[in-house]
Amino acid sequence: MDIDIIELSDRKARFVLSGVSTAFANGLRRSIAAEVPVLAIDDINIYDNTSVLFDEQLALRMGMIPIKGDMKIFSLPEECSCKGEGCPSCQVSFTLSAEGPKVVYAGDMVSADPGVRPVDATIPIVELKEKHKVVVEAIARLGTGRRHAKWQAGIASGYKNMPIVTIEKCDLCGKCIEVCPRNILKMNENTVKVTDIIECSMCKLCEKACDIKAISVKADIGSFIMTFETSGAITAAELAIEAAGSLKKRSDQLVEKLEPLA
Ligand code: SF4
Ligand code: SF4
Ligand SMILES: [Zn+2]
Repeated sequence: MDIDIIELSDRKARFVLSGVSTAFANGLRRSIAAEVPVLAIDDINIYDNTSVLFDEQLALRMGMIPIKGDMKIFSLPEECSCKGEGCPSCQVSFTLSAEGPKVVYAGDMVSADPGVRPVDATIPIVELKEKHKVVVEAIARLGTGRRHAKWQAGIASGYKNMPIVTIEKCDLCGKCIEVCPRNILKMNENTVKVTDIIECSMCKLCEKACDIKAISVKADIGSFIMTFETSGAITAAELAIEAAGSLKKRSDQLVEKLEPLA
């Protein structure tokens, strides 16, 4: 297996994964989307809410705020030594107390752990009018996207096969260059060149435009361009490492179960 990183920032990653099956690439995509635990607000105690939002709407909005922090120091409630009762190892509490007129933002939530806070302080929660109040305690716990989208650290996670564009016996008419929607075909001296193969969508418009069938577009079935973004709860690099670790952990468990039967 080979990995060639094309783009890596805190919130986005793009890489070419070669020498693997479609099932493996899809397993990694699913692991990125659904198997990496991050913190999200899971329980809420509403002491006062005279805003225009129902309690349930307020809870839903707060639940969907991405939370960042060092996820490794927390345990999943079901794996914690407190057996899910709730302790500093498996939960963090936030308090929110505000009175209108004002817009209440994620940054107004006060965390009991200074290392754990909303990814973006400017996410609006509710607009309070004169004398409207919200007084809330919210409990954040680890969870995975498999249980609920609020715990989904990986977003827009997808892959496509690596395109292969071959040009042979071209008469330089230039028709394929005109129709390419990604603008990646260029005339170069006495030939047509692909300037950025990663950007090719495999739409095959170039093939259709070529009267003499000089250009062909195929998919490399053992090579994939993977792209994903994160909610900001953890970095893209951390997410990829944790997702691959989750795949490995589950395949190790499968081997452990099957070994006695061999
Ligand atoms: S398949 Fe589509 S995107 Fe790719 S080179 Fe041909 S026209 Fe351009
Ligand atoms: S359409 Fe065919 S012949 Fe014309 S430039 Fe493209 S590959 Fe060459
Ligand atoms: Zn605990």
